[in-house]
Amino acid sequence: MLGSDFEAVIGLEIHAQLLTASKIFCGCSTAFGAGPNTHICPVCIGLPGALPVLNRAAVDYAIRAALALGCTVQERSIFARKNYFYPDLPKGYQISQYELPLATGGVVAAKSDYWAPNYDIRITRIHMEEDAGKLLHEGFPDSDRRSYVDLNRAGTPLIEIVTEPDFRHARHAAAFFGYLRELLVAIGVNDGNMEEGSLRCDANVSVRKPGAPLGTKAEIKNLNSFRFLEDAIEHEIARQVEVLEAGERVVQETRLWDSGAKRTVSMRSKEEAHDYRYFPEPDLPPLLVSAARIDAIRVAMPELPAVWRRRLVDAHQLTTADASMLTQVRPSLGRYFEDAVRAGADAKTAKNWVLGLISATMNDLGLDETGPLAEKVPAANLAALLALIDKGTISGSMAKDVFETMYASGQTADAIVAAEGLAQIDDESQIAGLIADVLVAHPDAVAQYRGGKTSTFGFFVGKVMKAAAGKANPRRVNELLKRALEA
Ligand SMILES: [Zn+2]
Repeated sequence: MLGSDFEAVIGLEIHAQLLTASKIFCGCSTAFGAGPNTHICPVCIGLPGALPVLNRAAVDYAIRAALALGCTVQERSIFARKNYFYPDLPKGYQISQYELPLATGGVVAAKSDYWAPNYDIRITRIHMEEDAGKLLHEGFPDSDRRSYVDLNRAGTPLIEIVTEPDFRHARHAAAFFGYLRELLVAIGVNDGNMEEGSLRCDANVSVRKPGAPLGTKAEIKNLNSFRFLEDAIEHEIARQVEVLEAGERVVQETRLWDSGAKRTVSMRSKEEAHDYRYFPEPDLPPLLVSAARIDAIRVAMPELPAVWRRRLVDAHQLTTADASMLTQVRPSLGRYFEDAVRAGADAKTAKNWVLGLISATMNDLGLDETGPLAEKVPAANLAALLALIDKGTISGSMAKDVFETMYASGQTADAIVAAEGLAQIDDESQIAGLIADVLVAHPDAVAQYRGGKTSTFGFFVGKVMKAAAGKANPRRVNELLKRALEA
């Protein structure tokens, strides 16, 4: 992609909304979609004299995210005022963390998951902050003259995750962002809803000759989809290379991605930290987090997606691709699979069923979670159905019909097979009897077969199956028929 010998240097800053019921410094609800300015109070609209009180649950979520990314959680961190003016920021400053953030020094190790590049991705820091409100520029009769502001979002708890500029390819940055979304949802700290703005990504992009000092970077703001992130970085890299090859200089600035025109456009010159006149927030004490509290959160941490995938590969000999299909889009599918294996199902068969018929059924029903399906067909019942195939009681194609009946009725496979008389004839003497009748009825075909015309084998199979009304176990029929004909 890079025409000449430039390399890209990319770092990400990701804002993730924490899944608390109330805001970070007041008791207002964080629910999305309420009428404008209905979830506000003196604290979050910045009335003079109103004092912030830190939401303990928000800190717990932030710590959980920090631990999941391998960061060191600081036992003492400081909230700071980041001063700037904007109409969606009623206080004139945002409460954030600056010099002493909550967590530092994490890493996502090279090749630690199927998507991970062959280099480490270091996490510089994770800090807590409040979100701003939202300007509404459209949808009002006087939108051509006025903008409105909705402060429901003001004071929503966020973490900002900042990576080192370790990425060398746009697709790696996009893959990391995808993993981060999966991770934060899996550990229950973020809802992953990018359309509603719960997860937003900025990218810092520069280019240089390998080994040279870092080039001047541009920051691309508000990349709220994986596609946009990758495209925007690709195009920004190409733009900077073009600028440098023309003998010009890259300007440090903030840019926006125009997804229609497929290019980044300049928004404003990039502000420096000193522009914000950071100083410690006088209305909040230092944030103290005890080692015991960090340990308690660490102990309660669910299994991380990358670890889960490695375990599936190791424990059940699944391919990496299968493990990621079982865990990524619908994690409940992976848990259902594991429950079925725990109930005795063969891992490979269970995997084929879960990724095949069960996924297809969920697609048909528009289900995101296995819950409603597992209510009708608990994983143990699936395991029992698979056991019937394994024993030869029913064929694989019959099992599909049985599964549909299981889902429709909530009955077990055994009950359905018994009620509908679906069990295959697997009894050796019964099948041998049918075979003997068929051979007696077709002496010419038998003579031909024995004379070397073995292509008539299928003819005999068909006759035996017909005599058995389709219920004979085909494997057994084949085996016994061969023996009879070659006797
Ligand atoms: Zn409030």
